Amino acid sequence: MTTQRILIVEDNPSHMKLEKLALAESNYDIHTATNAKEALEEVQSFQPHLILMDIQLPEIDGLVLTRKIKADPKYQDIIIIAITAYGMKGDKEMAMEAGCDGYVPKPIDIETFPQLVADYISNKNPVSKK
Ligand code: MN
Repeated sequence: MTTQRILIVEDNPSHMKLEKLALAESNYDIHTATNAKEALEEVQSFQPHLILMDIQLPEIDGLVLTRKIKADPKYQDIIIIAITAYGMKGDKEMAMEAGCDGYVPKPIDIETFPQLVADYISNKNPVSKK
């Protein structure tokens, strides 16, 4: 199987660090972006299999960004998992409505996060189904 590419979109340095740390022992190729512009550039050049999408981003938020990515047929198969700190009822629904494939509330659980990501990748990634 090809090394799976993961894009972490997160503007908060400590959350970014935690997500990278949680996935450090899994064999992924990881790129990062701290805003929507960087994320869109990475989607084009890096072509991630999965995106960990912070919802609260400066300027363009993660929901708008997700809609933008999923609107492009080239990128519809990218698995997008919303990572949100809203902690409010309805944020999951908002994420799913925007086209996210999954939802994880912050702070992530470093123990369970790697398996969760692996499950999303193995279930939905067309590459791994071959
Ligand atoms: Mn944020």
